[in-house]
Amino acid sequence: MKYARFRFQDTEYYGVVEDNNLRVLSDAPAAGGQPTDQLVPLATAQLLSPVKPSKIIGVGLNYKSVAAAKGVEFPPEPILFLKPPSSVVGAGADIVIPAMVQQPAGEVELAVVIGRRCKDVTVAAARDYVVGYTLSNDVTAKDHMPKGQPWTKGKSFDTFTPLGPLLVTDVDPDRVELVMTVNGQEKQRGSTADMIFSVDRLVSFISGIMTLEPGDVILTGTPPGACGLQRGDRVELSSRELGSMVQTIR
Ligand code: MG
Repeated sequence: MKYARFRFQDTEYYGVVEDNNLRVLSDAPAAGGQPTDQLVPLATAQLLSPVKPSKIIGVGLNYKSVAAAKGVEFPPEPILFLKPPSSVVGAGADIVIPAMVQQPAGEVELAVVIGRRCKDVTVAAARDYVVGYTLSNDVTAKDHMPKGQPWTKGKSFDTFTPLGPLLVTDVDPDRVELVMTVNGQEKQRGSTADMIFSVDRLVSFISGIMTLEPGDVILTGTPPGACGLQRGDRVELSSRELGSMVQTIR
């Protein structure tokens, strides 16, 4: 199943994709939304981020090939940071670089969406609490990440967490290929099979620290090739399983 959150004629809806249409749901999928009689043509809907998370948990350095390229050891446990919900935008929205940011960078990531409240779940049970997956760009202001300080400032600007285009349920999170192109040139390509900590391990580990709520999002780290961005760039994230999403930098 593929779910959207979208705007149509000045109203926001959740919907499920049926061919070229969105069938309107009575509520968010994670809140038990049920199909209604209303259909909206997909082409006429403005896609919004498919979820409205209460929090976004980022994971740093989670790809083996990235650690190898940097010549560093694998971290003994996941490196976590938070991004605020106010940084989220949907497919098609611009990424707006504030004047104070000189070195914005893009990072394509698999975003995990929590479907049921959970705390202290085991690795084996973790998948039961995930409703689906979407693409994310963990946009980062490299010049606002001073060494030895929290990453909050560099990760938290408005529009720095594009999510989308859709929430997709039937995905094997251990086998997702992620691609980022900038102005049509491929910059990143990697498979989640290269992750140091799998999605199941991340959900279990993070739920041992904080209660995860329906709609919460885990950004699972980025494959090799994260790169600098400039105003005017057209950034496309894509995956066979999750579709594609384009953002313009301005
Ligand atoms: Mg990242």
